[in-house]
This record gives sequence, structure tokens and C-alpha cells, in this order.
Amino acid sequence: MKSYQVTGYGEALEVRDLEKPTPQGGEVLIKIAACGVCHSDVHLWEGYFDMGGGQKLQLGKVSAMIPFTPGHEIIGHVEVVGPDAKGVSVGDKRVIYPWIGCGECGVCQSGNENLCARGRNLGVHVDGGFSEHVIVPDAKYLFDMDGVADELACTYACSGITAFGAVKKATGLGADDALMIIGAGGVGLMGVRFAKAVLGKAPVVVDIDENRRSAALEAGASLALDPNDRDAIKAFMKSTGGAAAVIDFVGAEQTAQTGLKVLRSGGKLIMVGLFGGELKTPLPMIPMRAITIEGSYVGTPAEMAEMVELVKTGTIPPIPIETRDMCEASQTLEDLKSGKVVGRAVLTP
Ligand SMILES: [Zn+2]
Ligand SMILES: [Zn+2]
Repeated sequence: MKSYQVTGYGEALEVRDLEKPTPQGGEVLIKIAACGVCHSDVHLWEGYFDMGGGQKLQLGKVSAMIPFTPGHEIIGHVEVVGPDAKGVSVGDKRVIYPWIGCGECGVCQSGNENLCARGRNLGVHVDGGFSEHVIVPDAKYLFDMDGVADELACTYACSGITAFGAVKKATGLGADDALMIIGAGGVGLMGVRFAKAVLGKAPVVVDIDENRRSAALEAGASLALDPNDRDAIKAFMKSTGGAAAVIDFVGAEQTAQTGLKVLRSGGKLIMVGLFGGELKTPLPMIPMRAITIEGSYVGTPAEMAEMVELVKTGTIPPIPIETRDMCEASQTLEDLKSGKVVGRAVLTP
């Protein structure tokens, strides 16, 4: 099988002819139909995350050692089932939940496989979807998204579940509680749509870019603010008393600071984006304002199942998709890094 692998951090992906794996036990071999390209793929390809203050978190310790095949937004057809695999048949089309844990530890047993310390995340710890085939350890990670186009369906495995998992953390807001979403890129816009569908709330969206603010209003935001417009932020604070929950889909120093600033007492800042940097904040304000800072990393298998059912109702408008041939994987990472991709880029082998 042809796989596009990271063989040197930051260098062009190498096309390698690898032996097609044979599924053992409950494993399933998937013939890939499409794989989305995510900002995390750019980090994995470059080999580090920006930790702020010039510090870098080098990968390799927390992800697959090179060479490895990136790609975690995968849809494809079941090609071979292992002798113990249950619940799928050859030919079935499925989206893969890639945030797979060890399946045995307490964290996995409690349903949070995405937080397992011995994760086997596809395209992160083990070979992923920039390939013709991929092995999935168990059929329970396969989801039927029948009725949703392949190139769109696969994006729910990361950008979708990331937005959904974050929005679920804002459950329990009162009728008058304001919800703010920072960042109206692809994942943020999906967050706006899920907020309406799951929480019944039209969020206030903050973004520095005017086009993205318009897109947020079209997606159902009640208001779209420029964070540099002090009067607009002041007016928001005055009319709402501050946000009860803020979801930061960017994860930069500036956006986290904005989030903390607009929270009301008892409010919660949900951090999602991995842009990078560090947060400096006066510690006494955390207890005095009784605020919570909560991280959100993708979502659980149960949230994936719930999201898939919601998407299949057809009530979540699709994000823009740009389909490319998989041989353009390297160029796509470059384009994503330099902000040249509108919506989601999806590769097809
Ligand atoms: Zn991703
Ligand atoms: Zn585990």
C-alpha cells in the first residue's frame, strides 16, 4: 500500500510502498476513501508544539517516532475483518474514531479513551490515514455516517468531535447565561452550529477577521465582535454581566486573555485550540472570581456516537470542503500552515 510518511520533521512527506497489514484478532483493515488534513497534522509534521516563551514541546516522545503516517480524519470501506471482529462486514463504509486508548486502564474504562496515557491514536501514535489502508484495533471505533458525503463525513472524526466535545462542556447554562465562542475558523463555526443544536444557544462570536465574523453570523451567532473593539466588548459586558462560558477555539495568548477578561464570576473558560503560547494571569483572581479553566481534547467515543446521530438528522450545515489528491499531501500541509486553505482540505487516494 502507498503511504505518505513523515520521515524527517518539517520535510516533504515521503511516498513509501509499505506492506498491507493483515488484521489480527478483532482488528479491521480499512481501504481509505478520504482523509481530512488538520492543523494538528501540521504540528505532528513539524515535530513540535509552541509552549510559549520560546519553549517547544518536541514530539516523538508524545507521538509516533518517525517514520510514521499522519492523518486522523478517515473514512473508508471495510476490506478485511480479523477472525474475532464483530459488527461490520466487508464492504461497509465507516468513519473511524481515531482517539483510541489502551482500552484497559481506568481512564478508558470510564469512557474517556481520548485521554488515555497509553493512547493508540491513529495518525498520532500509530500509522494513520495518509495512505491507501489503515488498521483499526476494533470495529467499535467504526461509525456509520450513511447519507453524509465521504469528504464531509470524515471531518467529523476530528474537527467535528473537537467542536462537539467542547460545546458539551458548556452544558447546564441558564436561560440568560451568555455563551461566547472565540475563533470562527472551521472548528469554531462547527461549534456555533453545535451550540445551537445541543445547548439551544446562539453564541456571541469573537474573531479579529471581518469575513469570519460574517460567516459566524450566517452560522447562527447572535452577535459577532472584534476583540480589538473595546466599546463593543464593554457593551457586551454591560448587557450580559459577562459570559458564563467561553470556548476558545484558537488557544493563543491573546484569545485566552480575552476569554478570561469577559468571564463573569463563576464562569468557565474552555480551552480547545492548540495555536500555542503561554498564559500569564493574576492567581488571586481565579479564586476570587471562582472561575474555572477547563481543557477540552477532541471527544469520547460516546460523544462521537451522539454527534454522528445529530449530524445524520441533516440539521448541521456542512463546512466548506476542498478535495485534493493524496499525492498533494505535502503541499496541503504547507498550505494549511500558511493559511491558504479555506474550510477543510480532504485528501483522496
Ligand atoms: Zn485533528
Ligand atoms: Zn487506557
